[in-house]
Amino acid sequence: MAVQYRAPRGTQDVLPSQSYRWRFVEDLVTEVSALYGFRQIRFPTFEHTELFTRSVGDTTDVVQKEMYTFTVNGTERSITLRPEGTAGTMRAVLERGLLNEALPLKLSYLTSCFRYEKPQAGRLREFHQFGVEMLGSASPAADAEVIGVADEIFHTMGIKNLEIQLNSIGCPECRAKYHAALKAYFEGYKGQLCETCLTRLEKNPMRILDCKSPVCAEIAKDAPVMLDYLCDDCRVHFDGVKKRLDVMGIPYVINPKIVRGLDYYTKTVFEFVSNDLGAQSTVCGGGRYDGLIEQLGGAKTPGLGFAMGLERLLMIMDAQGIEIPKERACELYIANIGEEAGIKASALTNSLRREGFYVECDSVGRSLKAQMKYAGKIGARMSMVLGDDELAGGAAKVKNMATGEVRELKFEDLSDALYDLGVEDILAAIEEDQEER
Ligand code: ATP
Ligand code: MG
Repeated sequence: MAVQYRAPRGTQDVLPSQSYRWRFVEDLVTEVSALYGFRQIRFPTFEHTELFTRSVGDTTDVVQKEMYTFTVNGTERSITLRPEGTAGTMRAVLERGLLNEALPLKLSYLTSCFRYEKPQAGRLREFHQFGVEMLGSASPAADAEVIGVADEIFHTMGIKNLEIQLNSIGCPECRAKYHAALKAYFEGYKGQLCETCLTRLEKNPMRILDCKSPVCAEIAKDAPVMLDYLCDDCRVHFDGVKKRLDVMGIPYVINPKIVRGLDYYTKTVFEFVSNDLGAQSTVCGGGRYDGLIEQLGGAKTPGLGFAMGLERLLMIMDAQGIEIPKERACELYIANIGEEAGIKASALTNSLRREGFYVECDSVGRSLKAQMKYAGKIGARMSMVLGDDELAGGAAKVKNMATGEVRELKFEDLSDALYDLGVEDILAAIEEDQEER
């Protein structure tokens, strides 16, 4: 039969054979960031469009080309699916008064994001991010902490060969001078810049440095860099970040070309870059956004954060052969012959599950042969067969599915045996029994 419905381009199904890998990564990022004091926030999948145009910035690729924006049922209100997590987090923080709590406020999120992009390896239209946000500290100690938590996550996962690229893009004061210098530089290439960059030249020349067009990228190579224009305050701040990373034992390289794809950044910006990702080499990006809260209508509050792409993270783990602990396999399959034994199998299975064991029995009404075939297919570690004799005797032979060896156990001893010994030990005991005989 031909497949009638297909998933929209740039989306992904995570099947049961893969979902344990996602859960592993989600648990790990949550646990590691909790050690650094970041607590999870959840926010809606869609927001009013102006939240994103105001915060992400209307000269960015995200706002200009990538947002899923629509109006609903003839209303005029424009809605956008979140293209990133910071805007929604900040909106919730302001709306719910979270800045009245103890500062710094440390939040994390695990969320899907939507961007209308050309799908390719590591670039989807629905993708997933883990991110943290830290609000209320202007100190470089906060920058080092945020970079530190990302670094620790990658370290705990066993990911190697990631390069931390660091830059400072200054504050609005020192950036004004830099903008003028950039503008003067790019004016000389007006005939070659792409159309988008021509408007950027007027509105926000720094955006040109982030253009994906090869021609613009080539021109940008020799452009002036922000590091040469930092004011004293921004320079001291940047030195403070570097010093702390040094003593924390976190290596980095300075990349004066990083400007990041979103408009709200100030001072520190950084990316975690991998050689195992092909063209989409950045797995995590972030930085400071000291003006964002004010821009969204709150009191001036410094802040910073990062977001990592979970699809790209999993791709690196794959490429580096990092093993993710396998899911727990079925510990016992209870096969049965006949109506009475079937009822007993349901009862036993249910009570063992209530005690925390992964137990299965036939729920289809198959023949014994088909039941055992199924037990093999799901990879059951042990099996037992209930028939009239077993019901009468209150005991059954438990078989090690890997070796075929058996050991007789009373029904009432089953859960104790599973508890006391654990699956591995029962399997070992079965083996020992067999050797003695
Ligand atoms: P890129 O330059 O690759 O487009 P970006 O600067 O747009 O990245 P951010 O907005 O900083 O990305 O998002 C943070 C992270 O989210 C990226 O480093 C990446 O790992 C991931 N990411 C961004 N866009 C996508 C996408 N379309 N598909 C999968 N992952 C993505
Ligand atoms: Mg992008």
